[in-house]
Order: sequence, then C-alpha cells, then structure tokens
Amino acid sequence: MRALHILPALAVVLAACGPAIRPLAPVAPARFDVDALPEPPMESPPPEAPLALSDEEYLRVRELMVPVDGVPPEKVPDTYWQARDGGARTHQAVDILAKRGTPVLSADSGTIVRLTKSSLGGITIYAIDPDRRFVFYYAHLEGYAAGLYEGKPVAQGEVIGYVGTTGNAPKNTPHLHFQVMRYVDARTYWNGPPLDPRPFLTQPGVKAAPMRTTAAAPKGK
Ligand SMILES: [Zn+2]
Repeated sequence: MRALHILPALAVVLAACGPAIRPLAPVAPARFDVDALPEPPMESPPPEAPLALSDEEYLRVRELMVPVDGVPPEKVPDTYWQARDGGARTHQAVDILAKRGTPVLSADSGTIVRLTKSSLGGITIYAIDPDRRFVFYYAHLEGYAAGLYEGKPVAQGEVIGYVGTTGNAPKNTPHLHFQVMRYVDARTYWNGPPLDPRPFLTQPGVKAAPMRTTAAAPKGK
C-alpha cells in the first residue's frame, strides 16, 4: 500500500527524464450535424436528470444523528482541530463524552463494513452510507451490539455498540471517538479525507428499531 503513495512522484521524475513531448497535431473539431439531430418528443417533457450534489450538500441531506444515545447536537464538543501526539497531527474527529455503556447509535443508515480492534482505537466499527460516499468510524467502544456483523444493513439510530475506553482512551473518560471520512475506494476505506462532522449532526441521538435482516446472515469470521 505504501508503494502506491510514491507512484505520482515517481511518474513526475520519469516524465522529467523522458524525451521532450511533441505537441499533437491540431484536430479539426467534429462537425455538429444539425440535420441529423432527433426531434424532441412533442408531448412528454424531457427526463429530469438529478444534479450531482457536492459532498457537503449530500451530507446535509442525510441529516446525520449524533451517534450517542441522549446527546443533542449542541453537546458535541468542538474537538476536530485539537492537536494530538504533541502537535504532530490534528484530531480530525469528535470526542463525545458519555457514561460507560451508553448506546452508540448509527449516525446514518447504511452498512457495517468492518468490525476491528486496534491499539489506538480499541474496539471499533467502520460503516458506510447507502450511496457509499462516506465512511463513519466509531472507536473506543466497550463492545458491539449483540448480533452486529460485517455486511449488516443498519438503520439510522440503530444501536451498534456501547461507549467505553478501549484503545488509548483515558480509563476515567469514557467517550465515543467519531470520525467521518470521504469514501474513495475499497482499499483505503479506513483512510479517506476526513471532515468535521459537527455541522452535519443535526439530529439528537435517539435509539431506533434495528433494521430487519431476513436473508443476510453473519459471515462467521
Ligand atoms: Zn478522539
């Protein structure tokens, strides 16, 4: 994976060492044959093509829920730009304080993509929205909700875990570390460009009924 990061730099170096690029010969613009155009239908209006929403517009429409039960949007602290590791990096996430064991709720509907443990994040969840534009990362969990599995469809507000202090969270400060990242591709779902979720967390955390799953079953891994 690391090697991929140096490829663009390598390409620049190779291009600089390569032979001078000769400009292409000018190409005559294709003639626009107005006589060959079809007539528009006389009665039905032209189909409406939906305009593509920007990432921020899309997130706003999703009306994300504060992913901790009982926490309103105004109680989500402004911790996105805090320094971490002695100023070596910024936090790029929000830390939502709550009592140990408070239900962690899915901020949006979508799918659970990964349940994993790490030394920093502890017990964590990665989930993705229905249009696969954003990844939601939940860390320091006390544990997962019963019956959660990778690939499970989730409803917004569904209980997916419980607030804890696993990973590098202070043991006396249970909180949810919540990060929102742009989904770029499957190889880097865990490392997309992050953005401050606070402006998009417009709904208070309220538990919802779990999404019914009939056909899907745990993958057993
Ligand atoms: Zn954090």
